[in-house]
Amino acid sequence: MNEIFNLSLLEVKEALKKHDLSALEVTNAFIEASEKIKKLNVYNTFTPEKAIEMAKLSQSRIDKGQGKLLDGIPVAVKDLFCTEGVLTTASSKILNNFIPNYESTVTNNLWEAGAVMLGKVSCDEFAMGSSNETSYFGNVINPWSKGKGKKLTPGGSSGGSAAVVASNAALAATGTDTGGSIRQPVAFCGVTGIKPTYGRCSRWGIIAFASSLDQAGPITKTVSDSALMLSVMSGYDQKDSTSANEETPDFLASCMENSLNNVKVGIPKEYQINGMSSEIIKLWEKGAKWLQDRGAQIIDVSLPHTNYALPTYYVIAPAEASSNLARYDGVRYGFRKSKDNLDELYSSTRAEGFGSEVQRRILIGTYVLSAGYYDAYYRKAQKVRNLIINDFSEVFNKVDVLLTPTTPTAAFELGSQQDPISMYMNDVFTVPASLAGLPAMSVPSGMSQEALPLGLQVIGKPFDEENVFKIAANLEDEAKFSFLNYN
Ligand code: GLN
Repeated sequence: MNEIFNLSLLEVKEALKKHDLSALEVTNAFIEASEKIKKLNVYNTFTPEKAIEMAKLSQSRIDKGQGKLLDGIPVAVKDLFCTEGVLTTASSKILNNFIPNYESTVTNNLWEAGAVMLGKVSCDEFAMGSSNETSYFGNVINPWSKGKGKKLTPGGSSGGSAAVVASNAALAATGTDTGGSIRQPVAFCGVTGIKPTYGRCSRWGIIAFASSLDQAGPITKTVSDSALMLSVMSGYDQKDSTSANEETPDFLASCMENSLNNVKVGIPKEYQINGMSSEIIKLWEKGAKWLQDRGAQIIDVSLPHTNYALPTYYVIAPAEASSNLARYDGVRYGFRKSKDNLDELYSSTRAEGFGSEVQRRILIGTYVLSAGYYDAYYRKAQKVRNLIINDFSEVFNKVDVLLTPTTPTAAFELGSQQDPISMYMNDVFTVPASLAGLPAMSVPSGMSQEALPLGLQVIGKPFDEENVFKIAANLEDEAKFSFLNYN
C-alpha cells in the first residue's frame, strides 16, 4: 500500500483506470495518511466520510468505463474556498461557524471532474501572511522539520495545502495566491504550484482578500499533475466579472515538450538582491544552465521598477482587503460579539474576530483610501503598478519567459520572523508577477545547505501558461528533486 505514496497523481489515475487500484483503496490510504500527520496541524476540517462517499461514486463511474478526468483522486482544499455544507473559516475566528450554502466555482469544477474531497486545510488568516502563523487555529508545521530539531514554517498563506501534499497526505491541493501564497509555500515544502494568469480561474466563492490580485491554482508534486489540475480548475465563469473568456489549452501536452530550441529565457538582474544567500544565486545559475543545455537562449533583462513592487503591493492589497473585509460585521453571519448598541456590536465583533495581522491590513488599507491620503498612497500605487506592468510587457517583447528564484531563503523557523516588514520580504520575488497578473510557477529545484528545499520560479506572458509548463517541466526533469519520504 505504501507504494501509492510514491505515485504521482497521473500515475494513480492510470492505476485506477487499469483497475490496479480502486478509488476506495486510494482514498482510504490518504485518509490514513492524513490521520498520521495530525501533529502537523494541517486540517481545519477533515471530511473522511465525504471522501469515502465520493470515492464510491468515482469507482462506479470507472467501473462503467465512464471515469472522468480526476475520478478517485483525493484533493485537499484551502479553507478559503467556500464548500457547500462544509465549514469554511478562512482560518479566522470571525468565520469559525460559517457553513456556506454554495460551492466555489473552482472546487465545483474539481468535484464535477470526479475529484474526492479530503477536507479543508489551514492557511494564514484571510490568506494574509507568509508563514501560516496568522491562522486562528494555530500554525502548520512544515513536514521537512522532521529530523531537523526545530519546527519550520511551511510558508504561507497556502501552508496547509503545501504541507499536506509534501507529507503524502493528499495527491493535490488547491491554493490561492495574491502575492505569492502558492509559490512561496510550495518552495518551502518541496512541491510544485502555479498561480495562473489573473482571470484564468474563477474567483467566485473564494473568500476575497485583494480582488485585483487573488487567483486560485493547484499544488501538486509534479508539473504534469499541476497541468491536469489547472486544466480542470480553469475556465470562464459568468459569475465572476473578472473571469477571462479564454479557451483552456492542453496544459498537459506542454509538459511533454523537451526541446527548448527557439525559447528565450530572461534573467532579470533586479532579482539579484542584497543579502540573498549564495546557495540561491547558485541554484538560479544552475537552472539557467539546465535550460541552456536543452537549447534555450538565456538573455539578461531588466525590470527597472522591481524595487517598488513590495511597497506598491502593501498599499494596494490592504486597500482592497479593507474594503472586502468590511462585510464581516457580526450581523449577517460568522462570529458575533453581542452588545446593546450597533456601533459597539461592530467594533467589538471585529476587534475580537480578526487577528492582529488582519487588523493591521484593515487599518493600513482604510488609511490609504481615506480622502486626505488617497492621492498620495492609493492612486500613486496604482500608477507604480502600471510601471511594473509596462516593465514586463517590454521584456516580453524580447523573451518568452523569465527565470528567477521563488524565495530569498529556505523555510525559516516558526516564530523567528516577528517583524511584519521582514515577513513581507518573503514575497519579494513573487509579488511583481502578481501585480502584473502574470502566470508564475515554482518548481522544487534544489536543496539548501541545511537540507531544505529551494524553488525556482518561471514567469510567463499573460495567458501563456503553456510556455510556463514547458519550461517548468524541463527544469523538473533536470533537477530530479527527491520528494520527502514522510509516510
Ligand atoms: N504574503 C503575502 C501577504 O501576506 C501574500 C499572501 C497571498 O498571496 N495571499 O499578503
